[in-house]
Formats: sequence, C-alpha cells, structure tokens
Amino acid sequence: MLSKVSTKELMDTVVKGGYCSGCGVCTASEGSVLKMGLTSNGNFEPYKSSSAASETHVVCPFANHDFNEDNISKKLFSNVDQIMREKEIGHFRSIYAGFVKEGDYRQKGSSGGGVSWLCAQLFNERKVDFIIHVKQSDNDKSDVFYEYDISSNLLELQEGAKSRYYPITLEKVLERIRNYPGKYAIVGVPCFIKGIQLLRFSEEVFKERIVHTVSIFCGHLKTTHYMDVLLNQFGVPKQELIKFDFRHKIPNRSASDYGTSILTTSNEKKVKLNKSLFGTNWGLNLFKLKACDYCDDVIGETADISFGDAWLPQYLDDAKGTNVIVVRNQYLDELIKKGVEEQTLFVEELSKEDLIKSQAGGFRHRREGLRHRLFLQDKNNEWRPQKRYSAQKLADEKRARIYENRIKMQEVSFSSKNHEDLSALKKELEPFIAINSKLNKVSLTKRIWNKIKRTFNWGQ
Ligand SMILES: Cc1cc2nc3c(=O)[nH]c(=O)nc-3n(C[C@H](O)[C@H](O)[C@H](O)COP(=O)(O)OP(=O)(O)OC[C@H]3O[C@@H](n4cnc5c(N)ncnc54)[C@H](O)[C@@H]3O)c2cc1C
Repeated sequence: MLSKVSTKELMDTVVKGGYCSGCGVCTASEGSVLKMGLTSNGNFEPYKSSSAASETHVVCPFANHDFNEDNISKKLFSNVDQIMREKEIGHFRSIYAGFVKEGDYRQKGSSGGGVSWLCAQLFNERKVDFIIHVKQSDNDKSDVFYEYDISSNLLELQEGAKSRYYPITLEKVLERIRNYPGKYAIVGVPCFIKGIQLLRFSEEVFKERIVHTVSIFCGHLKTTHYMDVLLNQFGVPKQELIKFDFRHKIPNRSASDYGTSILTTSNEKKVKLNKSLFGTNWGLNLFKLKACDYCDDVIGETADISFGDAWLPQYLDDAKGTNVIVVRNQYLDELIKKGVEEQTLFVEELSKEDLIKSQAGGFRHRREGLRHRLFLQDKNNEWRPQKRYSAQKLADEKRARIYENRIKMQEVSFSSKNHEDLSALKKELEPFIAINSKLNKVSLTKRIWNKIKRTFNWGQ
C-alpha cells in the first residue's frame, strides 16, 4: 500500500489548496527536502529549502494515498483483545468519563487532567523515556509562544498540561526522535497522530521509538492570530506577557463556561470570562485552519488512547472538569483500571451514544458539513483530499447556508490583516456573524420546549 506522495504533488495539492495542518511529518520523511515555516497568516506550512534540488516522497495526513483513518486503525487495533468498532467513532476497547483524583493533575489540566496523568504513569512504569507534548516556548527570541517539546521527568511533564489553541509543528521533535534513541510517547491532535502513524509505517526508526500515541479530541486548530485577538482584549502588549491560559477554570460555573487568563511581567493576573471575549465562539470558525474543515476524525481514531472534554449535562456542573476517554490499547486500559483500583482515578463507563453526544457539534460539522463542503469543492472543480465520507449536497437549505457562511468566516478571519486592530476586525466579520446569528436563531417556543426537555432529562 502507498503511504507517500512526491513533494511536488504535496506542494501542488495539499499546500497550495490550503489543506496543510502544519504537522510537519513531511519534513521528517527520509531524505525530505522540506522545512516548516510560519506564514503571515499565523499557521505552519512546508516550503522547499532552496538548496534542495531533488524530488523525494513524503508522508502527509491530508495527501491522497491508500491509508485513511479506517485502514490505519484496522492495521493497529483490529487484533486487540475485546476490541469493538463503530462507524462513527472507529475502534474502541473501552469508553469512560472521569477525572484524576490524586495530586493536582485535574486542577492544572484543561479537563479532568487525564492526559498528564496517563503520561506520568508511562514514566512511572518505565514504559517511556520521553513524552513529546506542547509547552510554552522558553526561547525569548522565538516567534511562537507555544511549541512541541520533550519532557523526560514528571516535573517537566507538568509544564505541558493545558490545551493550547495555537499552531504547533512536530518538525523539531521528529528530528530529535530520529537522532536520539529511546522510547517516546506523543500527545497530539487527530491529524498529527495520523501523520505519526504513517511515519511509523514507513520507517522502522519511528516505529521502534514511538511506542505510544495519545490523542486529544479536536474541534479545530487555530492560527497565532487567535491568541493575538484574545490578548488584545486584555490591553496587554505581548512583551509584557509571562503566561497565557486558554482554559482557566472558574469555580461554581459550568465546566464549559471557562475563562482566559494571563500573567504579566508586573506579576498581575487577569482573568476574563470567555463569553465576554470576541472570537471565542468556536462555532464561528474564526482563525481556523482550512485543513480542519476537511478532517473527518474528531476523536483521534488512530491513537492508542484519546481524551476529550465530557460536554454532557451530567458532568457540566463540575467546573473542575471531566474527561471523556476512548481506549484502544489493552495495556493503557489496564493502567486506567489500576488507577481506579488504587483510587488515584475516578472513571465510569460511558456509552458510545453519550460519547458522540459529548461532541455533537464536532461530529455534525465534520460529517454532514464535510459532505456539503466536499460537494462545493467538486462543483468548482477544485482539488480536495479524499475523505471517508463522500461529497453530497445538503438537502436542508438552511443548514447548507450555515456551513457556507462558516466557510466565509474561516476565510475572512484566516487572511485578515486586522488581528491587531479589534474594531477593524469586528467590522470585517460583522456581516457574516450577523448571518450566522440569523440562521441559528431558535424560536421562543422551541427554546421553551428545549428547556423543558433539559429539565426533565427527556431525549438525553
Ligand atoms: C486545538 C485543540 C482543540 C480541541 N478541541 C476539542 C474538542 O472539540 N472537544 C473536546 O472534547 N476536546 C477538545 N480538545 C481537548 C481538550 O481541550 C483537552 O485537551 C482534553 O480534554 C485533555 O484534557 P486533560 O485535562 O486530560 O489534559 P491535560 O492534562 O491538561 O494535558 C493536555 C495535553 O495536551 C497537550 N497539548 C496542548 N495543546 C496541544 C496542541 N495544540 N496540540 C497537541 N497537544 C497539545 C499538552 O501538552 C498536554 O500534554 C482540544 C484541544 C486542542 C489543543
């Protein structure tokens, strides 16, 4: 089976069409002549290094080849004891909802703290020497605030907790894996993990050294401009920023009603509720990579284990945060069960229906919405990646318009040069946001009916 494409094909299709998520696995392919660079739109893309004359073949999660998420996960997990499969969510051995009870993993994590806890167990059990995950950059001269980094002990691991809604690339850490022997685990969003698996299939060195993959569920990736726009609303210049938290938990509020916080050079901590900040409504597609609109993996189907937020009514009341966990690897499932026995972890089984419900918006946008976007691309005779779902014009005209307007909001915010001028940016986006509000307006009767249903748990 083919898992690689030529660099020419990659540049002419994925990169030119805007379908690159910036993962950087193309730069790590053997003999690759590609490097990753940050564009003026605030996303990572590969470019051909000027000295490179020769043509090579590389791995890419968005290129058209024989491997999609279904056959990758079949190859990896179909022989796992007690494995099950469901079209919507792929392979799974167990599905849980829960949180970490020991230490401050939950307090310091975005959700239930499960990702950092699991990585800590991999260290404690000596299953890995290094964890690769995303941390604040410690290089003052760096043009990025967060980047992929390597942790080799529990203290370093803790610095990587929390979700960074910020572009990152694996370029440097993959180079490190190639050059330094050891056992590595990688934390990443679904398309990055898919790229890692393709790399593992294509080269023994990555297969041997990357022994575990941990995915976080993903709504979409943002450009650097998203953080700029949020920071702008705090009125603090970048030079005065020490820390930034996209997921500040606020006691006595719903888990989904979190805030953004910053720490300044004058040691001042400022917190703002996300709903008071322009740009934080994820349904508007703002500062989103186009690639994410052409991804059909919400939960990281090719990873050994995936963690998300339990956006379900029964967990939302707890502001401390609760994870949804999908396990595909037997050993990791045993680690979770051991955690429960030792009372360091609380988990309860979750049905696959509840898992899907917890990410309802994400699934809708990446299934129904994706089919419609594929239809639009085909209608315009434009290249687009092959997906597991076929192109289909949406019959529901109102929903079709919602998805079409979201494409506009993505395009305008992605290429806007107004990310440092909030009022100009708002003016540019306002017409599309107004259309979105109009299309999503729910009648008073429907709102009352929905409230009654929620109160009495009907239809849950
Ligand atoms: C861009 C993005 C979109 C997301 N969309 C959704 C969604 O739609 N639905 C949902 O349920 N959950 C989503 N999540 C996942 C969610 O925010 C939590 O990360 C997840 O629930 C794990 O929480 P935790 O407390 O267990 O993790 P923690 O213990 O806080 O650890 C988080 C881990 O993720 C790593 N990490 C942080 N940012 C990134 C990044 N950009 N890329 C790769 N690794 C990173 C950290 O280094 C750390 O290892 C998203 C996360 C990101 C980064």
